[in-house]
Parts: sequence; structure tokens; C-alpha cells
Amino acid sequence: MSKINNLKILLNEYEQKRYKKIHDFENFKSELYKEIPRLKEIDKELSHMAIKNTKLLINNPDQSIITQMENIINNLIKEKKNLLNSVNISIESFGPKYDCNICHDTGYYSENNRTIMCNCLKQKLLDIEYNQANMSNLKKETFDNFNLAYYSDKPDKEKYHSDISPRDNILMIKNVAINFINNFDNPNEKNLLFSGNTGLGKTFLSSCIANEILKKGKTVLYQTAPMMLDNIIDFRFGKKTEVSNLYDTIINTDLLVIDDLGTEYMNNIKFTELFNIINTRILTSDKNTKTIISTNLNINNLLSTYDERIMSRLIGSYNICRFFGEDIRFKKI
Ligand SMILES: [Zn+2]
Repeated sequence: MSKINNLKILLNEYEQKRYKKIHDFENFKSELYKEIPRLKEIDKELSHMAIKNTKLLINNPDQSIITQMENIINNLIKEKKNLLNSVNISIESFGPKYDCNICHDTGYYSENNRTIMCNCLKQKLLDIEYNQANMSNLKKETFDNFNLAYYSDKPDKEKYHSDISPRDNILMIKNVAINFINNFDNPNEKNLLFSGNTGLGKTFLSSCIANEILKKGKTVLYQTAPMMLDNIIDFRFGKKTEVSNLYDTIINTDLLVIDDLGTEYMNNIKFTELFNIINTRILTSDKNTKTIISTNLNINNLLSTYDERIMSRLIGSYNICRFFGEDIRFKKI
């Protein structure tokens, strides 16, 4: 389905959702008015005052009249606040319960006289266009489901080349992940590179992070490396035109997750594309975009497999987390 169509469908959903929220609030309000009739009077007076105020300001009144008006309005608001407090409602929350506090479920907001598409709508478009297949399980994968019992608490230096146990290691990585989430907007916070064998929770942890970043109202794009690079190469060779949009999204999305970076399918063209993506996202870091790359290659493999340019970029601006332990997929059975 085309992008325009997706947008139309989403905007229609937004409108209906918004209408319902307003309608629900109106119902709630009229019930409350029955309980506290004075509240209805105050709301009526306030809207009356607002109109009066606008008219007054057009006619350039002297300051004393303006002050008088402001006092009346302030007193009414104070009285309203007290009445609402008496039934445990804060004046700030007295309104429709929109899902998004930024755009009030319209999908757009304005900033410096410009209309900007809200991240909540951008993310819904991303989910429909690119993430659907990849992120279907994402919403279920949260830190609450993080099971440390899957990781052994016994260090095994011979096997894992580390003095600490897999459990202590994963706890350390979890802390790195939590810091990454908390400092997402800090330009000095590094990107993340998860390295280690399959079945050690790299994708799971990426999803947990993605979930938390989505909660912050940021946009998240999840791509597997083979699929992403194939799509970009097809676009470069003119095979797919609709991918130009994907390329912009890859560069501009707040959090890009590149999963499954391996060796088997790589060639020089793909190296170059991967380098461009990593590099462009670092260079445009004033927008605070961040990237998580996960790979089943270890650091030495990476050094020997990947172009030096990519590696120096990765090492300089990525926190490298090495996952080790036994494949947890077998422990879940
Ligand atoms: Zn929004």
C-alpha cells in the first residue's frame, strides 16, 4: 500500500480516536456538573470572560481594566481548582485523555509557525511500512521479562575468556543499556554494539531498549542487516524506487536497530553502504540519533572481516558489549 494511503488511514484513525476522547470527556464533565453545579457556572463564566477579554484587548484598554479582568479570571480558576480538588481531580488533568500529550492525537503540532508531524504518527507510519514483520513481538519484550536465571553464575575463564560469570556480565550489559536509555538525548552517550553468539539475548535486549525509547516518544526503526543492505543496494541500482524513503528513514530515525550483522553475505558495495549509514548517523548526531548494532561475530572477527574505516568508527563511537554464556533458547524449553 502506498505511503499516502497509509497516512490517510492513520489520520482517519486519529480523528476517530480524538473524537471519542473528546466525547468521553464531555460525558464525564456533564456527570460532574450534576454533582457540582457551581463548576458548570464557572466554566460558563470563564468562556464568557475569554470572549470579553479578546474584544477588550482589540480596543486597547488601559492597564487597570486589564488587571481587573485578569483578577476575575484568576479567582475563577482558583475556585475551579478547589472544587476539582475536592473530588480528587487536578485541574491539569481535567480534559480529554489524549494518548499523545504533544499533538493531542491530531498527529501534528506547530513550532515556530511550522506544522510538524508528531513522532507518534511518524512511528505508526514506520511500523506499518517497515517494522511490522520485525517488531511484532517487540511490545512483549521488556526489562520485566529479563530472566537472569538463563545466565550461569559460574565464571569459566577457559570457555568464556572472562573472569566474571555470564550472569555478572549480562547484569553489566543491562546497566549499560539502562544508561543508554536514560542518556539517550545526550550527544556524548555512545551507540551500542552487541557482539556474541546467537541465543544470548542480543535481539531481546535491543527490543527492550527500543520499547523504552518508544515510550519516550522517539522513533525506532528495526532492520536486519542483510535485508536493509539488500534493499539499499536495490535502490542504488534503480531496482526499487520506493526504497529512497527507507534510506532517509534509516538516516533520520531516532533509534536505528541493525540486527544480525554477519559476514556471509557481505561484499565491497555493502561494506560501503554500511559505512555510509554508520558514518552519516554519527555525523548528524546533533539530532541525537543513536544506533544499536548486534552481530554474532566477536571483536577479532569484526576486525578481520570489516573494513578498517568501519571498525575505527565502531570502536570510537560505540560501547562494545560482549555477550557470553550458553544459548538461552534451549533453557526456555
Ligand atoms: Zn503525537
